[in-house]
Amino acid sequence: MSIVPEAERPNPYSAYGAHGSVLVLNSGSSSLKYQLVNPVGGEAIAAGTIERIGEPSGIVTHTFAGNRTRRELEVPDHGEALRLALGMFDEIGPRLADAGIYAVGHRVVHGGAEFSGPVVVDDDVVERIDALVPLAPLHNPANVQGIRVARELLSDVPHVAVFDTAFFSALPAEAYTYAIDRKVAQEHDVRRYGFHGTSHQYVAGKVARVLGRRVQDLHTIVLHLGNGASASAVAGGVPIDTSMGLTPLEGLVMGTRSGDIDPAVVFHLARNAGMGIDELDTLLNKRSGMLGLSGVNDFRELRRLIDDGDEDASLAFDVYVHRLKKYVGAYAALLGRVDVVAFTAGVGENDVAVRAAVCEGLEGMGIAVDPERNTAAADGERIISPDWTSTLVMVIPTMEELAIARQCVEAVEHLRPSSSVTAG
Ligand code: ADP
Repeated sequence: MSIVPEAERPNPYSAYGAHGSVLVLNSGSSSLKYQLVNPVGGEAIAAGTIERIGEPSGIVTHTFAGNRTRRELEVPDHGEALRLALGMFDEIGPRLADAGIYAVGHRVVHGGAEFSGPVVVDDDVVERIDALVPLAPLHNPANVQGIRVARELLSDVPHVAVFDTAFFSALPAEAYTYAIDRKVAQEHDVRRYGFHGTSHQYVAGKVARVLGRRVQDLHTIVLHLGNGASASAVAGGVPIDTSMGLTPLEGLVMGTRSGDIDPAVVFHLARNAGMGIDELDTLLNKRSGMLGLSGVNDFRELRRLIDDGDEDASLAFDVYVHRLKKYVGAYAALLGRVDVVAFTAGVGENDVAVRAAVCEGLEGMGIAVDPERNTAAADGERIISPDWTSTLVMVIPTMEELAIARQCVEAVEHLRPSSSVTAG
């Protein structure tokens, strides 16, 4: 099976006509990332980040037409961050009036059981997202703040919330139900929600599109390996399991998160190390994973340490790969047949050693990586498995902002969200 050339792939979005651009906002607790996207052509027109919001010295970067501007100044809050971003468009370009903003898309981490697709934001939606804060105390407050500020400053365009959890709202009950007392679970909304859904949906759809196949006909394992990392099993465009759970802490080993761990570790540390809930939260979310094991969470630094003979770094790499392999095996069993394993996000798209190690020894399952294809200098979507395997191993760059922009168009046009899985 080979990749269909770009020019020959149908673009379902070209039929939408000219929409102008979509401003995609991603508000974190101390950062604001933005990208102005053409939802039809797919290109990022301009992008920027405002980091260290609330600290004495914030960093603002804005990239337009190949030029990157960087400034350091105090950014007290998200309102000021967005004002600064809008000022960068005015000063450096493109002027937003010229870009014709069609909608503002907000990435929202937790949509709970309420939101199964993108929604046009009104006061009621903001309140409902705010009500989900107990489920995502580390993420949703900043998302809500970003939406409130943006609606004030950009009041004449529709705002759309796109949820990280939405794609996984289709999970079957046996995959999203935790085996704990049902009453407690129901009362407190305890279940698997899954995250990175925009990326998993985009990648599963993109796989089909680049192969010239229907997403309905493919069984795909998506490995989204960024600083946060998650795996999903997608059968015919529908997710049947994913590794993240009630929060983004469960599953794979990540940059700073432990992923799967015996929950009794928490009781043990509370009882014997005197650690409180917040301390344990910080331990497992911010001081664990690759950082906790090796002292670094960036895989480029990890590689340097491994090459220098650092044993902690080597063990961290082995633990990371071991967990990933377990998920590939588990999802192969759930899917019954795996047509594609797709690597995406910072580590998945760039780390040759991780891709090779995850697939090593899986030849018996029809999964293998061709060393030359894997290491070839290339970007863009590509096949890295040898010709003889039954499963294609692919690298598919994720484009979450573009996927969000397209879901915004769908929401505003009342298109069914499920149509987006065929696009990309
Ligand atoms: P997130 O969106 O979760 O912040 P990304 O998808 O941007 O994460 O991935 C960031 C991570 O990707 C970095 O922490 C680093 O570990 C890894 N990464 C980025 N570039 C490379 C590279 N060239 N080689 C290996 N790893 C890389």
